[in-house]
This record gives sequence, structure tokens and C-alpha cells, in this order.
Amino acid sequence: MASVKLGLHTIRVGNIFCIGRNYAAHAAELGNAVEAEPLVFLKPTSALLDEASAIALPDYSNDVHHECELVVLIGKGGDNIAAENALSHVSGYGIGLDLTARDAQSEAKSKGHPWTKAKGFRGAACVSAMVPAARVDDPQRLKFELRVNGQLRQSGDASLMLFPVAEQISYLSRVYGLSDGDLLFTGTPEGVARIQSGDALDLNLFGQVSAHWKVA
Ligand code: MG
Repeated sequence: MASVKLGLHTIRVGNIFCIGRNYAAHAAELGNAVEAEPLVFLKPTSALLDEASAIALPDYSNDVHHECELVVLIGKGGDNIAAENALSHVSGYGIGLDLTARDAQSEAKSKGHPWTKAKGFRGAACVSAMVPAARVDDPQRLKFELRVNGQLRQSGDASLMLFPVAEQISYLSRVYGLSDGDLLFTGTPEGVARIQSGDALDLNLFGQVSAHWKVA
């Protein structure tokens, strides 16, 4: 069963929505324009990876990148959720990795193909334990970081999101509908780079939760 931990509870995960290009500096580092509406893609639930497992790099890629992101767990689904009420639909916050086979993504982009092979392989959605939403006053004030082998690689400040969490939830509920147990990867800040076998990845959502993965 695809699941995440929320406090002492195990929550079955539904859809995994991801937002691309949600920080201007990251869009710029890959030569992409920022979008007028959220850029949404999906990962299969079989991509979920908890901390008990090592990251296995797919054999068709030589350039898997880390994308460290704030992750949101939807506790109460809905359609047409207003941004003003959107955060009441959140049951937890965590930190994770939207692992991306950048070479496969570049090939898909050039052919006009979907990104599934680049973003949806087994283990491509690494997610920490979730912190109950009641412990987070304002998700846009969260800060986070990723260190690889002890070196700072990505430093995240949710206040810099182009589409804040509440707007993402409102948008997703309007277009796709949201369900209890859906996860939302909220976009990565700049600093994405390749990971290699043997790397140790330490993620920290400051004041809330940390997580660790090893690359097999
Ligand atoms: Mg991402």
C-alpha cells in the first residue's frame, strides 16, 4: 500500500500532484519561463519512497537530479475549494524529493512527450513523515534545505513560491478535484543537481521534520 506517516497514523496516498517551475530562480536555472498558471504533472503511487528504503537510480538515466520540495498532505478533499479555505483541507506537511531523470526529461521535452519516465520511476517520490498541519501556522513561512554528503545544495524559502500552497490547492481542486490522501509536491528552489551512487541526502524542514536517504 502506498502510504505516508502522519503522527502515529498511516495514511493511504491517493494522487501525487507536482507543481513545476514554482520558484523563479529554479525556472531560470533550467532556462524555462515562469508560468501564468500552475504547471502540473503527476507521479504514480508506485514512485513513493519512505526513509526505510534507499534510492535506486533507474538504469536508463545518467543524470538523476534532486529537487527538494515542501510536500503537502490533503486531509479533506473537495472540488472548487476557495483559496481562502484551502489550508483547512491540509492535514500534514513534510519534505521530500521530486527525483528527476533530467536526461530523460530533456528528451521528452524535445519530442513533446509526457514527463512520466523522467519523473515517475520507482522511488522518484521520496517523502518524509508528515507533521500534523496544526503545528504549522503559515506554510509560506516555512524554510527548508537539502544537504548532499554534508554540503548545502538547496535552500528553500516557501515565501518565494510563485503560486502559494493555498492557490495550488484551489487550482488543483478546480481542475482535477482533490481527494483525502492526495499528496502535493509544491515545487523546487534553485540548486538542482545530479545525485550519484553512495550519496547521503539530508533534508530538513526547519522546526518541523527532517529526513535522510542514501543512494544505492
Ligand atoms: Mg519538482
